[in-house]
Amino acid sequence: MLRTLIKGLFPGLMHRIENESRSWMMQCRKCGHETSVWDYGGMRYRGLGPVYRLGRCRGCHRVSMLRVYQREDSAKR
Ligand SMILES: [Zn+2]
Repeated sequence: MLRTLIKGLFPGLMHRIENESRSWMMQCRKCGHETSVWDYGGMRYRGLGPVYRLGRCRGCHRVSMLRVYQREDSAKR
């Protein structure tokens, strides 16, 4: 819902947030499954937000602390 709001008001900003969110990954500490913050339904922009967040892993389907980190390949751009 927040995404839709931002997209309607600031389409250019939304594009940047999407690109940045896709470069941030969330990794399950239990099984190591990774998904991008964007695919998880979240947003991350300019390094704001928690480094760890509690969530349900899409790999093992358990609630776990998911480590949020930026992919190295995108950090170099
Ligand atoms: Zn997992």
